[in-house]
Amino acid sequence: MSILVIAEHDGKSLSLSFPKVMAAAKQLGEVTVLVASDNVAPIAEAAAKVEGVSKVITLETPEFKRPTAELWVENLEHLAANCTHIIAAATTYSRGALARLAARLQAPMATDVIAIKDANHFTRPIYAGAVNADIAVNNGEKPIIMSIRFSAFDAVGPQDGCAIEAGNPVPAKVLNESTKLEATGSDRPDLGAARLVVSGGRGVGSKEQFALIEKFADSLGAAVGASRAAVDAGYCPNDMQVGQTGKVVAPDVYFAVGISGAVQHLAGIKGAKTIVAINKDPNAPIFGVADFGIVGDLFAIVPELIEKIGKEKAA
Ligand code: FAD
Repeated sequence: MSILVIAEHDGKSLSLSFPKVMAAAKQLGEVTVLVASDNVAPIAEAAAKVEGVSKVITLETPEFKRPTAELWVENLEHLAANCTHIIAAATTYSRGALARLAARLQAPMATDVIAIKDANHFTRPIYAGAVNADIAVNNGEKPIIMSIRFSAFDAVGPQDGCAIEAGNPVPAKVLNESTKLEATGSDRPDLGAARLVVSGGRGVGSKEQFALIEKFADSLGAAVGASRAAVDAGYCPNDMQVGQTGKVVAPDVYFAVGISGAVQHLAGIKGAKTIVAINKDPNAPIFGVADFGIVGDLFAIVPELIEKIGKEKAA
């Protein structure tokens, strides 16, 4: 084994980010994937069918139903001796575990990688995405711990399958425990992987009025995002925040509605192929990056768009 990729999942299915993480990892060589869960079978089988996966190792214990960073570190430390790289998606979920692992192993870490040049040279954004830095990581005998900003990579395709091997989980002295995990429960596409995203900003004005953004998104089958100002004002939950301190999105089309276009917001939408801005201020910075702009009151424009989309669908 040399490259180990941690498969992120929700306990039932493999994360949509996984084929994108694999697109990055397979550039480094032969990939072994680690699936840890209290019920590994469906996730391991799905992972084995993703292009570039040579082998799947499973760790199955009840503790992995809600794994803590300590549990991850104990188990990854065990596997690290055979690895040149240990890789996961750059998400809140992996952030704690990878940083702890790097500290435990005294190993170098490369975070938010958006391009792989070779085994020791990567590209990552800095200064809120304003600049991309090429970094060299000298690892010596230690594995390089890496998180991948998966929105920068195109998902790999399927493959026939590969070997799945049961590993031996190591128990951990757990200092904290999550007693309940509750999914926010939405039928909308996942924000990080969606092809279409509609985001609302402070201009939307209130939680009640944010329903218009959701209605617009639903008319398109899009995911819903928000600016930090909208999240801070309580218009929507903070897992919808897009930007430097929120989610990074790379949809085909990104609608920014009532969003001014602060650099911290733009840091999260650099990968969007087309940006459409709706703003009543013709001088809003968002128009500087938008491919299409509509200047006007969102409360007049958005209902009109919803109506037109409805008519298109019906035709
Ligand atoms: P505003 O800047 O207030 O813009 C509202 C816009 O709505 C205006 O352009 C206005 O013309 C328009 N508008 C108002 N009414 C209407 C109407 N009726 N019709 C049409 N348009 C209308 N921000 C993020 O988004 N994501 C981040 O991850 C993030 N991280 C940050 C990290 C740090 C360290 C810091 C310091 C800031 C961060 N911010 C982030 C905050 C960021 O700087 C901005 O404050 C925020 O993005 C502004 O959100 P907004 O565009 O919704 O609000």
